[in-house]
Amino acid sequence: MDLHKQLSLLLLVLLTSVGAWAEPNVSIGTGSIKLTDFPMAYHVDASEARTYEQVRTLPFLDTGSRTTLGTAAKVTWFRLIINNVTDAERRVFVHLPHAYHVRSVDFFEERNGTLLRQERLDLNDAGASDLLYRGTAVYPLTLLPDQPTVLYLRSHSFSHQWFAAEILDEQTSRRALISVNADIALMVGMLLALVFYNGLLYFATSKKENMFYSLYLISGLVWIALSYGLIASMFDVYGIQAFKLNISLITMPVFLVLFMMAIFDTRTAYRTEHRFLQGLIVLLTGTLIWGLFDISAALKPSSSLAALVMVVTFSVSISLYRKGNPLVKYFLVGHTFFVVFNGIAVLFYKGLIAPNYLNSHGVGIGIVLEALTLAFIISHRIKILEDIRSSQEELKRQASTDPLTRLYNRRFFFAEADYLLELAKDMDTPVSLLVLDVDHFKSVNDRHGHACGDKVLVALAQSLKQHSRADDLVARFGGEEFVLLLPGADLVEASICAERIRAACAALDVRIGTDELIRITASIGCAQIDAGHESIESALSRADRALYEAKNAGRNCISVDVPEPGPLGIRVRSAPPAPPCPVTPV
Ligand code: GH3
Ligand code: MG
Ligand code: MG
Repeated sequence: MDLHKQLSLLLLVLLTSVGAWAEPNVSIGTGSIKLTDFPMAYHVDASEARTYEQVRTLPFLDTGSRTTLGTAAKVTWFRLIINNVTDAERRVFVHLPHAYHVRSVDFFEERNGTLLRQERLDLNDAGASDLLYRGTAVYPLTLLPDQPTVLYLRSHSFSHQWFAAEILDEQTSRRALISVNADIALMVGMLLALVFYNGLLYFATSKKENMFYSLYLISGLVWIALSYGLIASMFDVYGIQAFKLNISLITMPVFLVLFMMAIFDTRTAYRTEHRFLQGLIVLLTGTLIWGLFDISAALKPSSSLAALVMVVTFSVSISLYRKGNPLVKYFLVGHTFFVVFNGIAVLFYKGLIAPNYLNSHGVGIGIVLEALTLAFIISHRIKILEDIRSSQEELKRQASTDPLTRLYNRRFFFAEADYLLELAKDMDTPVSLLVLDVDHFKSVNDRHGHACGDKVLVALAQSLKQHSRADDLVARFGGEEFVLLLPGADLVEASICAERIRAACAALDVRIGTDELIRITASIGCAQIDAGHESIESALSRADRALYEAKNAGRNCISVDVPEPGPLGIRVRSAPPAPPCPVTPV
C-alpha cells in the first residue's frame, strides 16, 4: 500500500469514527432519570410524504431536545438514541410536553436496525390513543443493557414546528404529568380578573372602551391558554378543534383597534386617524369571517396583517401624541412592550433563535404587559373624567354663588325658587318670602371704607344662614339686599322668622381693627307666595313693597304684605331697640 492510499484509508477511518462519535445519543445510568436537555437529531421532510423506511437512511442534523424550526418544517422527524449503560433493564418515559399543539406524532422504536414497535398519536382523535396525558405525549420505552434504542418521532405541526422532548423515569414522569403550568395559570388568572373588573365597569358606566378592553383581554387569554397548553391540560381539547381557537389572534387586534377608537374618541376628535382605524377594522373583520370558515388559510397572511396593524396603530398613536392627546403616551408604552416581546417571539417561532423562556413565552408576556398598561389608561381616563366633572361642578358652583358672601346669587335663586314653588304647589304646602335690606349701608361704607362694608356683608350672610333653616333658600340679590325663600312657612311663621333675623342683625357686632365695632340694622319685607297662582317675580314685588313700607316706617323693622287686610289684619310686633318700629301691613 503506498503512502497515498494509507493516508486516504486513515482519513476514512478518522471520518467514520468521528461520525460515529458525533452521532448524538443519550446515556442512561443508574439512579433517577430526569433529562430535559440532551442532544438529538432532526430531518425536515418538506414533501411531508416520506416513510420511516426512507427517512432512516437520509441525513439528520444535530439539535437539542428543545428546538424551534419555523413554518418551513411542518413535518419534521426527530431521532433519539438512548444507551442503557447499566447492566439491568431500565424503563423510561419519553415526554413531548408540546404535543398538544400539533396534528399528529408517530413513534418508531428501533433496536439493532429492527423496528420493534410503531405508534401513532392523532391529536384530532386523541381519545383513541393512550399516549396523551393532559397535552403531553408519553411514550414508554424499555431499555436493554448495553443495547442502544433508537426512537424516531415524526412531528406534524399545524404551522410552526416547536418541539421539546424529555426522558424521565417512572416517578419523575408521574410528577411532571400532574404538575400545573403555574406561570401560564397566573397570566390567565390576571387577565381574567381584569376581564371581570372591566365587565363590571362597563355595566356601571356603559363606557364602550371597557367592553372592548374586556373582549381584547378575553381574546388574549384564550390565545395564551391555548398556545401554552392550559386549554389542553384543563379541557382535553386538541387538534383542529383547538387550532380553531387561534381565531383569537384575529379578534385581539379587532378589539384593540375598537378600544383605541373609543378611548381616544377618534370619531369626533381625530377624523383622519379614525378613517385609518376604520380601514383596519374592515380588513380585520374580513379576515375574521374568513377565519370562521378556514382558520388555517386565514392565519397564513396573519404576519403581514399583524405588521400592518402595528404600523397603523403606531402611526395613529404618534399622530395623536403630536396633537396633544394626554392618554396616548401610555398607550405607546404598552404597545411598544407588545411589539418588542412579540418580535422576540416571532424570531423564536421562525426558528431563528435558540429557544428560552422569554422568547418562547414572548407573545404571552407582551399581551400581559400591554393589558396592564391599557388598564392603567382606563383608570387614568377615569381620573381625567373625574377631574373634568369636579371642575365643571366647581364652575357650576361659581356660577350659582356670590363670591363675597358665598350665598346663592340671584340667578340661582330664580332657578331654585321655580322648583320650590312647583314642589309647594304639588304638596299643597305654604311658602313665604323675605326681602332684607341693610339700613343706611352707604354711611357704613362712607365711615369705615368699602372693605369694612364687605366684612359687614360677610358677617351678615353668616348670621342669615345661622338664623334660617337648612331648607330655606338664602340668596344675595345684589348690594346689601338679601332674599330668603321659606318652604313650608305661612305668613305668621315667616314674620316670626323675619323678626328673629331682624333682631339678629341688630345684635350683630362686626369687629374692625382692635377695638372698633360696627353695628347695623336691617329692614325686612315679608310675603306669603300663592304657589299655585302667582309667579316668584310677583311675590318679590309684593315683598319689596313691604320692605319699602318698613323703610318708611323708620327702618330696623319688619313689614308684612297681608293679602286682604282686615281692620285688625295687621299683626303688630314690637321691634326693640331704638328706633322702635311696628310691623306694618302694606
Ligand atoms: P337704605 O337702604 O336704608 O335706604 O340706605 P342705604 O344707604 O343702604 O341705601 P342704598 O340701598 O341706596 O345703598 C346701598 C349701598 O350699598 C350703596 C353701595 O355703596 C353699597 N354697596 C353695594 N354693594 C356693595 C358691596 O358689595 N360692598 C360694599 N362694601 N358696599 C356695597
Ligand atoms: Mg340699604
Ligand atoms: Mg339697597
